[in-house]
Amino acid sequence: MTIKTNSLKLNTNKNFEIIDITSRINEVIDIEDGIISIFSKHSTSAIVVNENESGLLKDLELVLNNLIGDEFSYEHDRIDNNAKSHLKSFLLSSSECLPIKNGRLDLGTWQSVFFIELDGPRHGRTISLTIIGE
Ligand code: ZN
Repeated sequence: MTIKTNSLKLNTNKNFEIIDITSRINEVIDIEDGIISIFSKHSTSAIVVNENESGLLKDLELVLNNLIGDEFSYEHDRIDNNAKSHLKSFLLSSSECLPIKNGRLDLGTWQSVFFIELDGPRHGRTISLTIIGE
C-alpha cells in the first residue's frame, strides 16, 4: 500500500463559480485501486459531488442565495465582509473521500466532482489530494 500527496491549483473568475475538476483529478491518479481525499484549503469554497447539468448548477446558486440572503446583518462582516461566503461553505463540505477503481475515480454515471468558489474571483486556490491504495 502506498500513500501519495499532490495538489491542484485553480484560479477563479467569478464570485460564485462551479468548476468541474473530475478530469483533473483523474489525471493525477496513478494507482489502480484505493481512495482519494480531495480537500479544499479555503473556508470560502467547497468540494462536492453531483450532476454536471447547467440548470441544476444554477439551482444550487439560487438555493444558497435564498438561504443566506442580504436581509440579515452578519457578525463576521465586521471583520472582512464575506460572512455569506463562509456560511455557504459551512452548508456544503470542504472535502470528499472517493473510491478509485481501475486507475480512475469510481463515480456513478451522473456524478462529477466540483470545486465551488464562494468568494471569488481568487488566484491560486489550492486543493490538497491524498491518495491511498495500490
Ligand atoms: Zn472571512
